[in-house]
Amino acid sequence: MASSPQVALRIRPLNDTELEEGAAVTAHKVGDQMVVLMDPSEDPEDPLRTHRSREKTFIFDAVFDQHASQEDVYLATTQQLVEGVVSGYNATVFAYGPSGTGKTHTMLGMDTEPGIYLQTLSDLFQAIEETRDSTDCSVSMSYLEIYNEVIRDLLSPSSGFLDLREDSRGSIQIAGITEVATSNAQEIMQLLTKGNRQRTQEPTATNKTSSRSHAVLQVIVRRRGRGAHPAEEVRVGRLFMVDLAGSERASQTQNQGKRMKEGAHINRSLLALGNCINALSEKGGSRAQYVNFRDSKLTRLLKDALGGNSRTVMIAHISPASTHFEESRTTLLYAYRAKNIKTRVKRNLLSVSYHITQYTDVISDLRGQIQCL
Ligand code: ADP
Ligand code: MG
Repeated sequence: MASSPQVALRIRPLNDTELEEGAAVTAHKVGDQMVVLMDPSEDPEDPLRTHRSREKTFIFDAVFDQHASQEDVYLATTQQLVEGVVSGYNATVFAYGPSGTGKTHTMLGMDTEPGIYLQTLSDLFQAIEETRDSTDCSVSMSYLEIYNEVIRDLLSPSSGFLDLREDSRGSIQIAGITEVATSNAQEIMQLLTKGNRQRTQEPTATNKTSSRSHAVLQVIVRRRGRGAHPAEEVRVGRLFMVDLAGSERASQTQNQGKRMKEGAHINRSLLALGNCINALSEKGGSRAQYVNFRDSKLTRLLKDALGGNSRTVMIAHISPASTHFEESRTTLLYAYRAKNIKTRVKRNLLSVSYHITQYTDVISDLRGQIQCL
């Protein structure tokens, strides 16, 4: 099935600092899908007006402004992925944008306004419940961060840095990651909260509480037929939900020393993500062989989401303030390019014979070991 990433834009309300600075609103939502970005610099011909000629319009699959609720954003973006994951398709949703623009608000939210994580998981378990008569389903979750190009298991922080490996079917696995079997959304949220305490968060000049790491929640749904349905088939749906680190440039965060190194690494991952998006969108097809996913941990992990077998939603975030015009402009350009990617998505079916082959391999391995003793 051919698929393009769905790209949405969320513009948060002006915050107190921006209001105190007297910032004007430069990003305006027009209709359901359009945003107009006004250049706040003065027109040299007419200092009383802004540069109308440098006004830019972008169309996305959906645009949300300060009036949109958490539910509005979820229903128009990620909800459509849920059925697919339960039926054995891969899906990825990621929040992109500079620090302080609302990525964590969209993904995690608050108790009173839960974000994409909880809303998606609630619907996922509801959908699984509805298939209970005909199938056996198991769900597991993992939670990791990519910080300075190393992967840390947020559910088992003492286990050191983790590696990515490609399995025999070409899908990327995180070697040694903790996979917790779970049966409800609340349990996953509790594990997420616990994992978040392990996240690497350090202040920068841009935003005191900005997260300098990419946080990745992985949920795997395995479904096996029962009764009249074929039991030899296992459908595996893998869902990634990603809260990316801030996309601002290292130079804009006035970082030095250790901070600068972090900035460079964050940029390496985000730069690699941008390069992959550019390469994929320019080719207008899924010629992933020319796209260098290996350039960063983030792009290796998201390889399927970008160039291959995944339905993908990207939610870009910006501030509406004139003081953040340049950052907003680059974010919009980046997100806009992602719309042109085309991939083919297929269902992940494992047959019992596949499992048997795996078991025979293990048994002959063990036999070999016994004979060596
Ligand atoms: P990021 O994760 O992109 O660095 P946050 O999600 O932490 O940004 O948002 C920064 C601040 O702005 C937080 O205090 C958050 O509650 C607030 N905020 C972000 N988006 C919205 C929104 N749509 N409505 C209300 N407050 C928001
Ligand atoms: Mg954040």
